[in-house]
Amino acid sequence: MHSVESFQLDHTTVQAPYVRTAMTETRGGATITKYDIRLIQPNTPPLTTAALHTLEHLLAIALRAELDGVIDLSPMGCRTGFYLILWGTATTAEVARALGRSLRSLSSVDRIPATTATECGNYRDHDLAAAQDIARRVLEQGISSDAFERRPVPLD
Ligand SMILES: [Zn+2]
Repeated sequence: MHSVESFQLDHTTVQAPYVRTAMTETRGGATITKYDIRLIQPNTPPLTTAALHTLEHLLAIALRAELDGVIDLSPMGCRTGFYLILWGTATTAEVARALGRSLRSLSSVDRIPATTATECGNYRDHDLAAAQDIARRVLEQGISSDAFERRPVPLD
């Protein structure tokens, strides 16, 4: 059986919110890096599907404005955060700062992008207020550049 990196992580010892490098891989001279972006402490009440879905739509745009080389940002099935995949590599502090600045920018958003049946696979399942609330809560706690020790990263 193949080993899956996130299945090896002890989810009882992490301290969210944090950014963690899950893996880096180089093939044919090109490097990609995958990050574990944990907004909610594992095994505490998770994000609603609507809040997670709205954050996905908003961060898909906001994070690309803050961070170079974004390939993908996808929600975790456990609804406690996202996986981010980048071209190249950045430090967890750089990603945490970009994420924090992106979340901060959400407070002034008044509509969710791509919420028609043409643009989205479940366009009714959105909640802007809940997404903005979680963004605010994450910013209050600070985003740590270390998964196991609180090292909140300044945003400016
Ligand atoms: Zn969608």
